[in-house]
Amino acid sequence: MQNQWKIETQAVQGNYHPGAAEPRTAPIHQSTTFKYDSAEHMAKLFDLDCADPMYTRLGNPTSGVFEEKIAMMEGGIAALATSSGQAATTLSILNICQTGQHVVSAGTLYGGTFSLFSNTFPKFGIEVTFVDPEASIDEIKKAFRPETRCLFAETIGNPGLNILDFDKFRAVSKEMNVPLIVDNTLASPYLCRPIEHGADIVVHSATKYIDGHGTSVGGVIIDSGNFDWPANKYPEMCTPDDSYHGLIYTEKFGKLAYIVKARAQFMRDLGATPAPQNTFLFNHGLTTLHLRMERHSDNALALAEHLENHPAVSWVNYPGLKSHQSHALAQKYLHYGASGVLTFGIKGGREAGIKFMEACQLIAMVVHVGDARSCVLHPASTTHRQLTEEQQKASGVTADLIRLSVGIENVADLIADVDQALAASQLA
Ligand SMILES: *Cc1c(COP(=O)(O)O)cnc(C)c1O
Repeated sequence: MQNQWKIETQAVQGNYHPGAAEPRTAPIHQSTTFKYDSAEHMAKLFDLDCADPMYTRLGNPTSGVFEEKIAMMEGGIAALATSSGQAATTLSILNICQTGQHVVSAGTLYGGTFSLFSNTFPKFGIEVTFVDPEASIDEIKKAFRPETRCLFAETIGNPGLNILDFDKFRAVSKEMNVPLIVDNTLASPYLCRPIEHGADIVVHSATKYIDGHGTSVGGVIIDSGNFDWPANKYPEMCTPDDSYHGLIYTEKFGKLAYIVKARAQFMRDLGATPAPQNTFLFNHGLTTLHLRMERHSDNALALAEHLENHPAVSWVNYPGLKSHQSHALAQKYLHYGASGVLTFGIKGGREAGIKFMEACQLIAMVVHVGDARSCVLHPASTTHRQLTEEQQKASGVTADLIRLSVGIENVADLIADVDQALAASQLA
């Protein structure tokens, strides 16, 4: 029944249904391990014949409530919670990609993901080719090699804020017979459900809008269950796993193979597990996700419109604006609004950008987006400073770029703060 509920009801009441005299709120199972009475029951756990909790590295009931709720909200069949968004992206790819293999990704990425793909994966022997998401189907296909294992992109590029052309990327991934993995962090499942638009796997930094209150770092991988893993191309899914005495994931778990494998192999071996305390807070965050995403979107649009007419601002980048190059895609793929992140160019470049960031009072200078409280950042001097100028350009960062993560405060107060900080930024 709950799969038929509207997403707002799923967010509030999904996947936790206490019986009489049980806690109304899904409790924190702050326990490393779980007790059993028989060797036979334990053997079943180790054979993956039974999904009861055994040891928190592999799964925890509090995290399980979060996993099932977010899977439901994204329209997927299963999820794996991770210790961070970076861990979610890393595991989502390592699960189907190893040394000598290859990934094609949109170049417009979160800085941490860009660094993972351009620095760390190559050290593991996994190469990533970046493509311009505006390129044609044929051009994107040219980046593929026989050993390419997946296509990766963000729903809303952070901080470029280009909206993914799902139809185009789905066409490429279908033709090349690889899964499309989409980072849906900035949109959240309330504004966009990538699986409905052809994504096979969705990842999130739960740290952002899912938490929503700046309390916890975490991530999650959601599988649609739609990708049919061919035995010739993804033998790790379809041939015996020696580390589970010959178990074949697709045979034993069918559509659940991808998430079971990610948990049983990579969570077991790499241990990027979230704390139950944190997944408790993610459950809390999801309860109000729909309300917050509406207010984030309304406030960001009002602020973007205000900035468009401000003399100290040379350009405004917000996909909710009619002037935005991705506006049509935003209308097509985003429900309700275009989320809370916007960027703009400040007159006076890098120096004015730093002055603006320091002059903001209500809006806090923090390395964060997706918080209920508004945040400001000048990426060229902070998050993206390790990248070369060329790499900065490829990920959409210029010296005059200011990123605002617009919170859910009263928008008149936000506009007043931005106005006084802009005035301060223009003083000699
Ligand atoms: C923050 C972020 C990440 C990384 O998440 P962490 O939880 O900080 O590890 C990945 N993708 C996007 C789009 C992000 O904004």
